[in-house]
Amino acid sequence: MIVRIADQAGFCFGVKRALELIHGLRNEGRDIQVLGELIHNQSVLSDLTRKGVACIQDRFEADPKKTLVIRTHGIPADEEEKLRQEGFQLLDVTCPLVKKTHCIIERFEKDGIPVVIVGDRNHPEIIAASSYATDPIIVNSLEEARAVPAMPVMGVVAQTTLDLDFFGEIEAVLAERADHLEVHNTVCEATRERQEAVRRLAPQVDCVVVVGGHNSSNTKKLAHIARRHNPRTIHINGSLDLDKPELQRLIRDCRIVGIAAGASTPPEEIERVRNYLSEYSPKTETRLDIDQRRMQNG
Ligand code: SF4
Repeated sequence: MIVRIADQAGFCFGVKRALELIHGLRNEGRDIQVLGELIHNQSVLSDLTRKGVACIQDRFEADPKKTLVIRTHGIPADEEEKLRQEGFQLLDVTCPLVKKTHCIIERFEKDGIPVVIVGDRNHPEIIAASSYATDPIIVNSLEEARAVPAMPVMGVVAQTTLDLDFFGEIEAVLAERADHLEVHNTVCEATRERQEAVRRLAPQVDCVVVVGGHNSSNTKKLAHIARRHNPRTIHINGSLDLDKPELQRLIRDCRIVGIAAGASTPPEEIERVRNYLSEYSPKTETRLDIDQRRMQNG
């Protein structure tokens, strides 16, 4: 099968930087724990666990003798302050682009401009970003944007992994709700590049396989965009999902398959999926064929 990989796929700058900083400290012999999942990718998390870097779910589980990593999404400002006061040694790997959004929100707050954050209110990045304003409005649908009270001035930022088209639609609705709208499109460069790459790739292939954690916001957006441009799209966690019947059904009559991957998908995973698909022959009897043949034969 012919395999085409999106021009931009896999690890972004923020994730690479975080892993380099953590491995750097490990190599110095420091004991490390991460507050929450470092990134939404199971193979990366398993690799870190094997190397002795534990992910803890709550700061109360934290061992004060170990360095505590603040992950790329950041944490609420008051929580960070508390950890410092409690004497934790912190390694802050919050992506600088996430921090940039925090600075914009702080500036809005200082200038008395009401803040609207476009994104998923339950996502750690948005929970952290919200802490930089007193009473931010969070919107994640056109309906919620229409419900924002009309006001003279409004400052708007986006979750770094938002679908750019969606942000444009929300911005148009908010423009009706304010006399002056100060918009900072904080969707990060890595997200933009990956979204544009999948938009170009999807119509040129028979089907698209999007690789990355099902809980990864940016990977889910890529799958959504790919589906818009090619309904024959499937989102898999990684190479362990290659046997799945849905995937086997999708690829068996395809000649050209496209691969897209989120910003938290490691290059080795993309390579494994690529190798499997490039060696895949539609003529090969799949496990699904065998099961179906067995069922037909009773
Ligand atoms: S997706 Fe963007 S904001 Fe998030 S870590 Fe990567 S570069 Fe940073």
